[in-house]
Amino acid sequence: MTRKRKKKRFRKVIFILIILGVVFGVYIFLNKKSFLNKINYSIKGKITYYDIYGIHMNFEGDFNLKKGYSNPKLVLTDGLKEKIIPWKLENEGNDYTFKTSDYINDGINLESLENGTYYFLIKVKSDDKDVYFPLINDTDYEDLTYYTLTKKGSNKVININWDKYQGNEFLGFYIKNTDLPADVYDITIDPGHDVNDAGMIACLDGSVPNSLGGCSGSKTYKESDLNFNVSKELKEELEKLGYKVKLTRGKNDSLPTYGQMGSGTTANTTKSKFNIALHHNSTNVTGGMASTHGLEVYVASNSKLDLARLLVKNICEYAQTDTSTKKEFKVENGIYKRLSDDGTPYYYMIREVGGIATGAYVDGSNTKYDENPYYNSNNTAEGYLLELGYIDNVKELKNIINNSKGYARGIAKAIDEYLKEK
Ligand SMILES: [Zn+2]
Repeated sequence: MTRKRKKKRFRKVIFILIILGVVFGVYIFLNKKSFLNKINYSIKGKITYYDIYGIHMNFEGDFNLKKGYSNPKLVLTDGLKEKIIPWKLENEGNDYTFKTSDYINDGINLESLENGTYYFLIKVKSDDKDVYFPLINDTDYEDLTYYTLTKKGSNKVININWDKYQGNEFLGFYIKNTDLPADVYDITIDPGHDVNDAGMIACLDGSVPNSLGGCSGSKTYKESDLNFNVSKELKEELEKLGYKVKLTRGKNDSLPTYGQMGSGTTANTTKSKFNIALHHNSTNVTGGMASTHGLEVYVASNSKLDLARLLVKNICEYAQTDTSTKKEFKVENGIYKRLSDDGTPYYYMIREVGGIATGAYVDGSNTKYDENPYYNSNNTAEGYLLELGYIDNVKELKNIINNSKGYARGIAKAIDEYLKEK
């Protein structure tokens, strides 16, 4: 073959490839577009509950399946790719109810979704053919926006919108890359207490602090300062891993609880996925030999324990500490669930930060507290409260002072490991 003929043939191949590419592109475009046309809007399911808690989205709903339809599945589909969403389905005759998980930090992992436009539908079989029908909004809640965690410096935005096609309601997921807005963060860290509330106080020689909160014979350690130090270290560790992190306060700041950017509101104001509240414990035992010692990770009710277990494992390893000897509220080694009589989490940093997922209730009706603007929110942060150790156990206090980097690294590794598994 001459060089000229070779060139000609090469051009021909390129031309054919371009034509094929265009045809394929048009095919995908039409298929996606016409998918809304294929939905059977004469059947409708209802969404009766939905929320985003941390990185997970959960749904509850119901529908009625008429004769001739069978094998219902919950799907997220773009008309070509289809993801079947696991659910718990129950029925009495033709009336079905479903929920995507029993756990608040489970369900649809929003971090795992790829860019595109997806429809949230129920798929059934009818005469061996697939039929899709929509789910309509039977709640008081509206559209949601979710920013994914920062991965390799980039983020996606997921708009979860109640939309209409020819007057018929459906739920769409619209996912694309985005720059993270300046006021949106991945993780919030709340260093417990503030300049006006020292929390626990301990003396390095184990003596009991005087009534003014100081130690006469040795250095005084305030919980608020210890909490801040380890929080600052944790922020640095998480930032090294690429996450965007917000501290609720500076070292000498005073902090409102439910006011603007307070300890109970910052995580949700900044659309953080996690709220990590850091504390140190004390039983106020004279002599610095408190028999209770060790790490306690407090979790929400109805919570999967995957991240809590990683926190326990990594903190014990990196900080060279052990799980707490405390028995009260213990679920398993190092993991604690402290609930009020009504079953909601005792600590507001978990309960109020979680909105409707965790039963937040500070709605302003009790005038002792400000209203939590997020108590009724269905788009909230997953909360953990860590009591890192007992500062009236001098041995533990020394480890906390000398090894705050180890505690911070353990927490950061746990979060990173958890998110890598997702
Ligand atoms: Zn505390």
